[in-house]
Amino acid sequence: MAGASEGQVQAVVDRVHKAGLSTHVSVGVARTVIGVVGDDRTKEMLRESLEVAPGVEKVVAILQPFKLVSREFMPHDTVVTVGGRTIGGTQVAIIAGPCSVESREQIMQTADAVKAAGGALLRGGAFKPRTSPYSFQGLEEEGLRLLAEARERTGLPIVTEAMDAEQLEHVVRYADMVQIGARNMQNYPLLRAAGRQKKPVLLKRGVSATFEELLLAAEYILSEGNYQVVLCERGIRGINGHTRYTLDLSAIPVLKELTHLPVIVDPSHGTGKWRYVGPMARAAVAGGADGLMIEIHPDPAAALSDGPQSLNLENFSALMASLRPVANAVGRSL
Ligand code: PEP
Ligand code: MN
Repeated sequence: MAGASEGQVQAVVDRVHKAGLSTHVSVGVARTVIGVVGDDRTKEMLRESLEVAPGVEKVVAILQPFKLVSREFMPHDTVVTVGGRTIGGTQVAIIAGPCSVESREQIMQTADAVKAAGGALLRGGAFKPRTSPYSFQGLEEEGLRLLAEARERTGLPIVTEAMDAEQLEHVVRYADMVQIGARNMQNYPLLRAAGRQKKPVLLKRGVSATFEELLLAAEYILSEGNYQVVLCERGIRGINGHTRYTLDLSAIPVLKELTHLPVIVDPSHGTGKWRYVGPMARAAVAGGADGLMIEIHPDPAAALSDGPQSLNLENFSALMASLRPVANAVGRSL
């Protein structure tokens, strides 16, 4: 609807609700988009009368299985705001921090390094999804408290993972952004719960998920009313024996074509080896990523999780310097 009055928008919304469908209204500068979701046959029946309703410019059927996340629904790029920083604008957002929060000293030292190097957000796991039940599982609530303390100290917003709806309640009390990890990309109750709260969500691609599955997972979050979602390519199951996963950089242009949501890349989990992180990070920025998630640690050899893929603080600072000209070359900044 271009130039429609508030009353005209409301009249359309009322009509859709009366037919038993739900609406998602997005008010842009030039036009208001009303997303209609629900039964296909009811939508088709409503179509003709909506086409001639006052204020309606056009009615577009979205053919993709995902609706609210699709480019067709929202042609312009979504910019997600996290504690005053943005993801999805011209600036490339660098999210860095340890795989796990291990101690006060470790997280404060790391946070200082992220800030000094010009990172946008601090990451760190408090509830860790570990492949083995015998591995370090995270500091839990204490980890969240330490992250909040690191934010106080540096001003960096924090992002951390929740693995179920109960953890989510703890996480949202401390974090600026909630991470849903690869293993939980299709945890539908968690996705719905993340959609019902207000903090932005970082949704990582499952290790064998198609783009359609990833976008439908994001659709769960948006369908509950939370539009602040960032997608993260973090590597998929591949066949080469040299890297932990196969980082699928084609995810960037493909997802950007299919969705208006920001897309970031995690070359740390994607490669599993710190030596490969820099080249893949630069490639991701060159390829149009809206941000990066990088694991770093003051002493990677002593890390309680993911040490082999973590950069030390010095190497992280060098990586940041090397990313700036790449970002500039594609019309962006860090
Ligand atoms: C992480 O970010 O530490 C993590 C566990 O990532 P993923 O869910 O991608 O494995
Ligand atoms: Mn990790």
